[in-house]
Amino acid sequence: MLVTLRDVPADAEITSHQLLLRGGYIRRIAAGVYAYMPMMWRVLNKITSIVQTRMDGSGALQTLLPQLHPAELWERSGRWKGYTAGEGIMFNLTDRQNRNFGLGPTHEEVITTIISELLHSYKQLPVNLYQIQTKFRDEIRPRFGLMRSREFIMKDAYSFHSQEIDLKDTYERMNKTYKEIFADCGINTVAVYADSGAIGGGASQEFMVTADSGEDLILTSSDGLYAANQEKAESRPPKANPLDKAEVIELETPDQITIESLCSTQEIHPSQIVKVILMLALNEDETTQPLLIAIRGDQEVNETKLMNMATKESGKTILDIVQITPDKLKSQGLEQWPFGAIGPDLKDKLLHNAKSWEKSFLRLVDNSAADLDYFVCGANKKDTHRKFVTWDLLDVSPIKVDIRKAKAGDHCIHDPKQYLKECRGIEVGHIFQLGQKYSKALNATFTNEEGKQEPFWMGCYGIGISRLAQAAIEQNNDKEGICWPISIAPFEVIIVIANMQDINQQTLGEKIYRELKSLGIDVLIDDRNERAGVKFKDADLIGIPWRLVVGREASSQQVELMERSTKKCKILGADIAIKKLIKEICQSKTYLRTESL
Ligand code: ATP
Ligand code: MG
Repeated sequence: MLVTLRDVPADAEITSHQLLLRGGYIRRIAAGVYAYMPMMWRVLNKITSIVQTRMDGSGALQTLLPQLHPAELWERSGRWKGYTAGEGIMFNLTDRQNRNFGLGPTHEEVITTIISELLHSYKQLPVNLYQIQTKFRDEIRPRFGLMRSREFIMKDAYSFHSQEIDLKDTYERMNKTYKEIFADCGINTVAVYADSGAIGGGASQEFMVTADSGEDLILTSSDGLYAANQEKAESRPPKANPLDKAEVIELETPDQITIESLCSTQEIHPSQIVKVILMLALNEDETTQPLLIAIRGDQEVNETKLMNMATKESGKTILDIVQITPDKLKSQGLEQWPFGAIGPDLKDKLLHNAKSWEKSFLRLVDNSAADLDYFVCGANKKDTHRKFVTWDLLDVSPIKVDIRKAKAGDHCIHDPKQYLKECRGIEVGHIFQLGQKYSKALNATFTNEEGKQEPFWMGCYGIGISRLAQAAIEQNNDKEGICWPISIAPFEVIIVIANMQDINQQTLGEKIYRELKSLGIDVLIDDRNERAGVKFKDADLIGIPWRLVVGREASSQQVELMERSTKKCKILGADIAIKKLIKEICQSKTYLRTESL
């Protein structure tokens, strides 16, 4: 069954999504929900088989965990509310006995519970269990086909250790295994440092397929020694233009509420300003913590770093961070504040009459602002700023943190002569040292060598199988269609019989088909009663790596062999063409084998 579409489907924005739909690989059933058609299923199975081979080779054991998760498990880890309320992504339901369940978006709770029930001693560790299974996530913005869907296939693995050092060892082994898996799949990936959240975060790395359509921004150093997701990236801020030492003065700054207008009117540079951002952390325990964030005027706040730091410093689980607006002040029964002229020393007493907010600010200052000797900042009075201010002069002691967004052009931490460049990436894999975060929450312990109870040391390792398939297309296509890497292509060879009415063509085509098949080659034959031109177009679109055309020369046993990716084409005797195919295909497989040694 080969049904291709001529037109670009209206709802598909990126190339790989368009090609999957046009090539008849997938069909959309609902937003973020797709059917995998027979050729797609072959691709997914090939990726699955590569992943299984490498994971088994690393010593991990395959398993299959339930997709229906009882709410109690997630309540025990403290994640039920965050995952089901508000913008939570867990689909959930109630059974006929009125018990709550969630559809598994990830499996830490389930696996940790099982392991803690079964394994009791350090002598039984380490173990690494993996599964390949459909995950459900009610994504806020499902898009780009299989890239961000609500039902998708993931390989997830969870390792359990008696010591942190052993976890690090397995993490390194997974790092190597992932590199092999992606190389086997014929895709280029970059390993980048990734955010590991606020609590329990050990090392974490993402594997990115670089592509302009990628949702993640990656920053890499010019010498290639450093690569990080922007969420995590660190850098040196550009040098500030120092302000000379002088006595503090007040500036009248009517209508100068943006950095740009303040700078142009007062003839100062953005790097001489300490700007203040007022936010609210909405906590899981339903308290609301006002945040006063100070950062250098030419820099921006990284929301992920801010979330992590605010969580760490407040010790609370934060569900969301939102801006403080005049409306919010009003609803708390508070007087209006001089927005646009606020300084880092805005007084806590302004919060004292708040109806439900905490009564003092959590004050965070980014290093870029903390390092300024003299600066300009708001005077906490309408239309007024101050110049030549120092931190000593302000009677506040904010917590010094790194919450700055690193950007292309910034100089690197490891070597100031190197600078950061940016590109976009699609995350296809993620490895993560969880530490004792989940084992502590779920009270999952083992008896250690000293005979004491200790929470398991854990790691988790994910690969988006269905996302990877589409990412491979994003990286390998041309204007005619897909150019599958051979190891994950649905078929290795497509035989096109140019004219089905010609008995010579039909006979030779079918003979070659049988021969290749008997040699273990994945071969597809296009014996539809379509015009040759239509079949060639379809073959290009669906992207099988080798095309063998049986046409007019069939009577003299001649065929045409074309490599899809290079479009290099040769007329060859049928036997020679078969030999060449076997050689080429075996070579690509030998390459896979030697890589694994
Ligand atoms: P993202 O940051 O893209 O939302 P994530 O950090 O939530 O991903 P993990 O929980 O680390 O993802 O899941 C492991 C892998 O599963 C990811 O590396 C990605 O390849 C894949 N994946 C995650 N969410 C989706 C999705 N909605 N659709 C398809 N694949 C996904
Ligand atoms: Mg991730």
